[in-house]
Amino acid sequence: MSTLYTNFCYPTEIHDVAKLFFDDVELTESNVATYKLVEQCVDGEFAYLAQTAGLSERQSVNCNGLDELRCIRLRKRYAKLAMYRLLERATGRSMPWGSLTGIRPTKLAEQLAKEGEDWQKSFTQLLGVSQEKTNLVADILRTQGVLRQRQKGSADLYVGIPFCVSRCSYCSFTSGEIDRLKKYVAPYVEALKNDIIATLRFAHSKGIGIRNVYFGGGTPTSLSAAQLDDIMNCIDVSPVEYTVEAGRPDTLDAEKLAVLKSHGVQRISVNPQTFNQSVLDVIGRKHSVEDIYEKYRLAKSFGFDVNMDLIAGLPTETYPMFCHSVDEAIRLAPENITVHTLALKHGSALKEQSYSAKDVANMVQYAQQAVCAAGYAPYYMYRQKYMADNLENVGYCKKGKMCLYNIGIMEEVSDILACGTNAISKRILSDENRIERAANAKDVITYIQRNEEYLQRKFKLFE
Ligand code: SF4
Repeated sequence: MSTLYTNFCYPTEIHDVAKLFFDDVELTESNVATYKLVEQCVDGEFAYLAQTAGLSERQSVNCNGLDELRCIRLRKRYAKLAMYRLLERATGRSMPWGSLTGIRPTKLAEQLAKEGEDWQKSFTQLLGVSQEKTNLVADILRTQGVLRQRQKGSADLYVGIPFCVSRCSYCSFTSGEIDRLKKYVAPYVEALKNDIIATLRFAHSKGIGIRNVYFGGGTPTSLSAAQLDDIMNCIDVSPVEYTVEAGRPDTLDAEKLAVLKSHGVQRISVNPQTFNQSVLDVIGRKHSVEDIYEKYRLAKSFGFDVNMDLIAGLPTETYPMFCHSVDEAIRLAPENITVHTLALKHGSALKEQSYSAKDVANMVQYAQQAVCAAGYAPYYMYRQKYMADNLENVGYCKKGKMCLYNIGIMEEVSDILACGTNAISKRILSDENRIERAANAKDVITYIQRNEEYLQRKFKLFE
């Protein structure tokens, strides 16, 4: 256990930096701690002194003439930087994303560029981001191009289906096994339909156009074809893009795919996670590798664009096994391949990592090289807490095959009207540089019982 003392008000950020290096770290109010960080201010210059036995690191930033918001941002950034550099020296380890935590690297790059800085130089020389990750951000910004622009006057519709057929060991979603929750499925479908109809009516009354529709979960296709049809009948708009995160191959059949097609769905996912049967068994996926090939072929026969998710760092999957998974995905040539890094979060059955951090970094590197060599480009990325080796998730696409919804949500350029359990509506107040949110109930029962109350919260957000 490492203990950390900070004399000022950014304990969360400092704690996040310490978590990059230590699994176990405790914040203390006492200044007798293994690591200390102290803030001082003289004439608008903020200095941060980070110390541990025999080592110290000082960073400072001049905030004279800056508005309050920018000053706070810089103070946090330099406080984290002082602690990061100290921990780097104390442990002899560097992190691929340097001192960056809790911010989307693409957004920071854009922000720095707007403020007149050479963001690539700031990433590598100041913030400690590796050259490889800096290049990744540059590639993503290039691929996204004008799609990064704020979409005003429209919103994306998110529909959440919180059911799945069985639970993967790494899953932390608030999804439940559909057989276990059988008695709630029909009432949920009714509540969801009510939510969608009222939300679309509201959007229409406010002149908000629906640009993209996205079904996520859980696994939406764990519902029956009739239930999917029933829900999709409520969506009386013609979106630019219509996506269903089908996910599990064992939930797909021709009847469901025909329903999706009849409602104008263009994109679905068929997620292998791995092409190694022994790993599928270990993580509790309850389907075979052959199912992946079969359902992929079936999806393509309906003409869907397909995304395939892979995960680096799954238990028992070695580097050569992971490379095989990447090669198989490339061979099948779906329109999108998304490479995730395993994140062990609260709520997942899998608690411990069973791989070395170096292996996972190598896996991610192999995936990036192989996928790009096959003609895909990285087009969005996000980082989560507790990711293996502090890495990232990256979506790759064939030319012109980006998922617009993913860019909108990850880059925070689209408002989101969200329906269903655990779905979060978002409104971007670009003039104030701020995002407001309204979250629906996290569990199915509360969502069904208090449907109307959550609808009103959502409407208030967009009033
Ligand atoms: S398929 Fe997805 S939602 Fe279902 S248990 Fe696995 S990770 Fe969770």
